[in-house]
Amino acid sequence: MIEKKKNIVIAGAGLVGSMWACYLAKRGHNVQVFERRDDMRKYNMDAGRSINLALSTRGWRALEKIGLKETLEKIAIPMHGRMIHQEDGTKDFQPYGKQGQSIYSISRGDLNIALMNKADENENISFSFNEKTTHLDLKRNTIHFKHTKTDSQSALSPDLIFGADGAFSAVRGAMQKTNMFNYSQQYLEHGYKELTIPPTSDGEHRMDKNALHIWPRKSFMLIALPNLDGSFTVTLFLQFKGDESFESLNNNDTILKFFKKYFPSALEHMPNVIQDFHDNPASSLVTVRCNPWHYENVCLLGDSAHAIVPFYGQGMNAGFEDCFVLDEIIDRHQLGSWKDVFEEYTRDHVKNGHAIATLALRNFIEMRDSTSSHRFLKRKQLERHLMNQFPDKYLSQYQMVTFSTIPYDTALKRGDLQTNFAESLLDDYPDSASWSDPKFLEKVEKWLSLAH
Ligand SMILES: Cc1cc2nc3c(=O)[nH]c(=O)nc-3n(C[C@H](O)[C@H](O)[C@H](O)COP(=O)(O)OP(=O)(O)OC[C@H]3O[C@@H](n4cnc5c(N)ncnc54)[C@H](O)[C@@H]3O)c2cc1C
Repeated sequence: MIEKKKNIVIAGAGLVGSMWACYLAKRGHNVQVFERRDDMRKYNMDAGRSINLALSTRGWRALEKIGLKETLEKIAIPMHGRMIHQEDGTKDFQPYGKQGQSIYSISRGDLNIALMNKADENENISFSFNEKTTHLDLKRNTIHFKHTKTDSQSALSPDLIFGADGAFSAVRGAMQKTNMFNYSQQYLEHGYKELTIPPTSDGEHRMDKNALHIWPRKSFMLIALPNLDGSFTVTLFLQFKGDESFESLNNNDTILKFFKKYFPSALEHMPNVIQDFHDNPASSLVTVRCNPWHYENVCLLGDSAHAIVPFYGQGMNAGFEDCFVLDEIIDRHQLGSWKDVFEEYTRDHVKNGHAIATLALRNFIEMRDSTSSHRFLKRKQLERHLMNQFPDKYLSQYQMVTFSTIPYDTALKRGDLQTNFAESLLDDYPDSASWSDPKFLEKVEKWLSLAH
């Protein structure tokens, strides 16, 4: 029976593993979390670096269920829209959603610490740090660890094992060797490097803090998200190889020239750009798709199940949604078994992981290129018009993904139909003055009645 208290191991105390520990603790299970790194509450892992993430509706919903929403709202900065910094130096603000809708910039470290502290409030949860999962013996349901400092080895055979050990998951690695396990991984030719815009001498933000700043430059781009201390975390997405690439930007001169040429309005706020550029690594971006997300008593959540590129700001949100969805499935199977739970999770939710992976890859093109294209901006304007005119029937794909909890798979399919329709409307009614034409409204109403 599902309510019976279980001994459970979670591999990984990142954002998703720590959240899942909170969900399991509420049900009274004994949970041991094994993390390969040190305890970030004792050692500041990212000293001098402030990495942030965009949190949106799905993430907030999952945080609310474990009682963390209010606490975290106090340390999250609302971003109401994109501030596009065009090549000619002009700026263009594009609201994300309807009035009052925002995504939120939050520090990865502070969020992870809040989740671990919340989990630690429960006596039935323990964290072990510097314990790397090395491999699993799936036949015996045994998970093996190696202490990263002492090299001592240990193993446990709990009732259930959850893999929340990220994109290069050791738990998934064991599942990959089982029969009928589907797996793919795809690297982008682009990588990313984190840089900084420091606060002013008064501790203020140097740009509008309530926006996600984007400098789209077709094949590459720069973005910046605000931090509470007045700084911005800036991320450069760029090809690894080629004429203008991480490989070619290999000395102070080429780095400075590149920023002067493409990002002068960012450079004026980046006094330490050269030092940051040398100090911080260029990291790769991978998409991982797999199916199923469980094997017997072992189950995957977060990036271990679906690592995605960061261009929709949904990786963490999707991982938090895994926790919420799995918890709901458990509720539905109170008289059933964990086998039933895991089977339903794979059957109904894997497709959502695949859908957000697709959407995230597409959004890279949208962010770096389309945000500055006239046609794209016109379609966005039309979509806002349709959302205002038909609020119950028309939600843009971005709205569905970011400001709703409509399954990602539905958002992908419905959004694609809508985009095609909006494009055909634009062909017939390119001028916004014609959008109040009765024929235009009739056409939209007819399409909506067929689409719903
Ligand atoms: C540049 C960038 C920007 C991003 N921006 C956003 C954003 O704005 N919004 C958003 O929603 N998402 C964003 N993401 C995605 C987000 O970071 C991930 O989806 C999220 O961190 C996944 O959480 P996780 O706990 O599943 O995995 P991770 O955060 O990778 O955590 C995994 C944990 O497991 C530990 N671990 C790994 N291997 C082992 C092992 N063998 N044994 C024990 N422990 C192990 C790791 O040390 C880590 O603590 C971004 C990602 C990148 C790269």
